[in-house]
Amino acid sequence: MNIVMAASEAVPYAKTGGLADVVGALAIELTKLGHHVILVMPDYRGRAAGESRQLAMRLSIPVDGKPVDVTVEEENVPVTGALHRLRVLFVRYDPYFDRPGLYQQDHHDYPDNLERFILFCRATLEIVRGLMETRGEKVDVLHLHDWQTALCAVYLKTLPHEYKGLDQLKVLLTLHNMGYQGVFPGQQFTKLGLPPSLFSPSGLEFYGSVNCLKGGIIFSDAVSTVSPTYAQEIMTAEYGCGLEGVLASRAEGVKGITNGIDIDAWNPESDSYLPAQYTAADLSGKRACKRALQRELELPNRDVPLLAVIGRLTFQKGFDLLIDVIPELMSLDIQTVVLGTGDHHLEQQFIAAKARYPDRIGLCLGFNEGMAHRIEAGSDMLIMPSRYEPCGLSQLYSLRYGTVPIVRRTGGLADTVIPFRPSTVKSGCATGFHFIDTSTDSLLSALLLSLHVYKERQTWQSLIYAGMNVDLSWRRSAKLYVDLYRGLQEGKKEN
Ligand code: ADP
Repeated sequence: MNIVMAASEAVPYAKTGGLADVVGALAIELTKLGHHVILVMPDYRGRAAGESRQLAMRLSIPVDGKPVDVTVEEENVPVTGALHRLRVLFVRYDPYFDRPGLYQQDHHDYPDNLERFILFCRATLEIVRGLMETRGEKVDVLHLHDWQTALCAVYLKTLPHEYKGLDQLKVLLTLHNMGYQGVFPGQQFTKLGLPPSLFSPSGLEFYGSVNCLKGGIIFSDAVSTVSPTYAQEIMTAEYGCGLEGVLASRAEGVKGITNGIDIDAWNPESDSYLPAQYTAADLSGKRACKRALQRELELPNRDVPLLAVIGRLTFQKGFDLLIDVIPELMSLDIQTVVLGTGDHHLEQQFIAAKARYPDRIGLCLGFNEGMAHRIEAGSDMLIMPSRYEPCGLSQLYSLRYGTVPIVRRTGGLADTVIPFRPSTVKSGCATGFHFIDTSTDSLLSALLLSLHVYKERQTWQSLIYAGMNVDLSWRRSAKLYVDLYRGLQEGKKEN
């Protein structure tokens, strides 16, 4: 198939979160499966010099009623094991994208984010038109990701006279996190260049504001998200962030496809970030990683359970619950390591906890890729008390590294961690622990259960073994996306 994927970030070019991992890995995996993939993304500051890039197109894009001259540069990326290359098209307009951050600077969103992504969306559609009409190439599906690309669907479906040649193009929108919708003041609607009638509750209006994601949900042919449970959850008021009604009104529903991980970058058998490598059959390297991690984070070398916390320190991730149970935690004979960055208040609370319990808590504030690998390898269990979690990656890395996840039963956490129960233990498929309520009691009960099971060495080994043998590859997920694309192309309602 011929797939154009539009995204505001993708590894290895630009990343602020899991979206970039998903887009980069999915594009590669689809290429390996034999599909022709073109990835379209903004040309941000700081891409390495000396890459072989060619000027592919010059475009004039209307933004807020004025034409903006844009260039499109193409890079062809070889993909190991694939018949053809992955093509990446960079939309270049330096006044918008040659900036220090992708969406914000000093924790403040750029005031012209709407214009920036109007430009990007319209440029994406012009690129598709250029490929089809000028170059005679085929495009079967346009796959959008998150609010930054959602306007593509709106322009395509509401301005048919402008995009005549593209009327057969099918559009899939994938929602990676309902917490980010691209909401702007209502007065800015005119910048979009859309019919005024679209600024209504049945269009892009959202309580007097412009909501880009809402537009994408309404006008895409199919909508998906990154786990089956999150797909159900976002149709409820608790998780839909105000768009639950719009999502629920889509007759075809929302398809959930769980993310994979990069099983080469995250492989305990070959991970060069680790002081020792290991396999499920021989975990001696994991024990060496634990001792090295204790040294690195200045914790005593003791054979006690080591609990890991990795992630953005935000309300979403629920780490405030963990702060609340620290006194109880510290009454147990365990150590805790924390890697994260985010809310100042939470960072301060972890600093205070570390100062109070220096021999029990290892703390690393900041973004540190190597440390994330070493913590995943050196810990016994990882806790994710997320209030919501579209998919989650850290628990997947934990499974692969033989670190048992303790997760709140929500979104992708519910789908990817098989909870400890008599039946799942008996059948050898349990991989971790669930708790349901967003409460300290619930979290503490799951933790205590895990510590109890930790002492039953054989049962604990079976949890590790089952986790390390789960298929977390992108291949499985990429095939499900292909099914979805095919369903769209055949005009079926696959959702
Ligand atoms: P989200 O995308 O909501 O932040 P995910 O669990 O989907 O959460 O992905 C988070 C990714 O970022 C994981 O790969 C995790 O290892 C990584 N990560 C989060 N915080 C840090 C950090 N401080 N240092 C290194 N890696 C981090």
